[in-house]
Amino acid sequence: MNEASSIASRLAQVQDRIRAAALRAGRAPDAVALLPVSKTFGEEAIREAVRIGIHRFGENKAQEIRSKYAPLADCHIDWVMIGHLQTNKAKDIARMAAEVQSLDRMELAIALDRRLQLEGRAMDALVQVKTSTEPSKYGLPPEELPAFLRRLARETPALRVRGLMTLAINAPSQDAVRACFRTLRELRDQAQNEAIEGVDLSRLSMGMSGDFEIAIEEGSTEVRIGTAIFGGRIYGDDYYWPEGRSS
Ligand SMILES: *Cc1c(COP(=O)(O)O)cnc(C)c1O
Repeated sequence: MNEASSIASRLAQVQDRIRAAALRAGRAPDAVALLPVSKTFGEEAIREAVRIGIHRFGENKAQEIRSKYAPLADCHIDWVMIGHLQTNKAKDIARMAAEVQSLDRMELAIALDRRLQLEGRAMDALVQVKTSTEPSKYGLPPEELPAFLRRLARETPALRVRGLMTLAINAPSQDAVRACFRTLRELRDQAQNEAIEGVDLSRLSMGMSGDFEIAIEEGSTEVRIGTAIFGGRIYGDDYYWPEGRSS
């Protein structure tokens, strides 16, 4: 199979599995969106995905969005930042990304907001929450979420809060993985009860190639899928999770 047909067929398989998991969980088959994650994959693979109708891709490094942005400008891609974002990269993300899902601290929110205002635009944002006890995980500590959301509503008007994002623990135990997803949903439900003006928490971005069906059972509205669509990555997983995660 060439690259085009294998990306297309893997994408179709993933979409079938998403729909099946939603139905099993008693949810509408189109209740869960798919965000293909193109990190480490080059122009060719991304163009193949664009040809079969994908126009929104997740990336976990600001430098990688920057290097793909201009060469793929003709594809009109919405780049979604899903990885740890250094504050000094806020400028690139404010300019090039359509959305950020890894908003995890006020310093970053303020830097993004300032840059977005200079660009004259606003951006959808998901707050990344740390739902596992693994020391290497980025994300806001759950107990800080309510105060963080209130500050975003007051101080960063160019960031439109749309929901929460998490990475589950990397563990063989499905129960441990499920507990992370359930925690995110419960945190969302609690925060929603506060009804903070300007804060919409309808989206839950959770689930990756190895655990998305569990995430869907726990209420995910959006799964972020890399390897199950694009194939294995050249870099080992420790390239992304230097402190030991694999996925
Ligand atoms: C790489 C990555 C994914 C996708 O992981 P796969 O296991 O390749 O599906 C999802 N979310 C984040 C934050 C990532 O960095």
